Amino acid sequence: MLTLALQKKGRLSDTSLRLLQDCGIKISAPRNGTLRARAVNFPMEVLFLRDDDIPECIADGAADCGIVGENVIAEKKKRLSVELPLGFGRCRLSIALPREKNYEGRASLSGLRIATSYPVILQDFLERHNISAAIHEISGSVEISPGIGLADAIFDIVSTGSTLLSNGLREVEQVMTSQAVLAAQLQLSADKREKLNQLLFRIKAVQRAANNKYILLNAPNTALEDVARLLPGMNSPSVVPLAREGWSSLHSVINEDDFWENIDKLKKLGAEGILIIPIEKMIL
Ligand code: ATP
Ligand code: ZN
Repeated sequence: MLTLALQKKGRLSDTSLRLLQDCGIKISAPRNGTLRARAVNFPMEVLFLRDDDIPECIADGAADCGIVGENVIAEKKKRLSVELPLGFGRCRLSIALPREKNYEGRASLSGLRIATSYPVILQDFLERHNISAAIHEISGSVEISPGIGLADAIFDIVSTGSTLLSNGLREVEQVMTSQAVLAAQLQLSADKREKLNQLLFRIKAVQRAANNKYILLNAPNTALEDVARLLPGMNSPSVVPLAREGWSSLHSVINEDDFWENIDKLKKLGAEGILIIPIEKMIL
């Protein structure tokens, strides 16, 4: 049995549960007071925790693995194995100054009081760049601290920058980027490692599917070779003759990123009736 720690309530919670659901693993969302749940169709138990507690729980063995932001792992300084980036919960951690304050590079940070809930990451950054500044640790509402005279600058999570803007702050140094990852204990028993690999296999199939589309199109037989070259698919495309003389239907898989660029090229080759269909799972 594998124990997975998830954020109980917050930005990562819904997406984490949805990811498991897409992997065919059913878990009831935590109700008030429920801190653990058994997965229905996978040998796994889920612990619902504050995200700050997840790295330690994994490191000390209370959980075998968990879904948590890279920023939290870095802040807690726990040695964990990062098994897979998950592509959600993306943000950056930056230093911001009041808009009107002059900034001429990192030297301008010297002597400032910087408010943050990420003192460890900030300390590392300051030491790396030989900056002597005072770290003022606070647990929330970091953005208002310069406005109320508590600090001269802040170091905090930025996603769109609108919170900074509305507090009269300007981002001056990006210190790290972060996303949610599946992290695990460094030493798992063979049995747990096998279960974790099964979970990783499923997540990768879901991720691959999300990045790819199934494409069907009709093309004149004379263009088939060129069309097939643009759509190599997972092996090679399937070609089915149409009732219409000299035409075929071609089925393949196309990467989301290549999609628009290739659609134009396909149309130029004479492709018609192009259908793009989402893929649910993709196993290579
Ligand atoms: P908890 O109660 O579990 O301690 P929290 O308030 O610390 O929750 P959330 O705000 O739910 O945490 O954020 C969880 C994680 O989501 C962050 O640690 C970060 O990795 C990621 N994240 C992505 N975008 C943002 C954002 N705009 N603000 C805060 N966190 C973000
Ligand atoms: Zn937290």
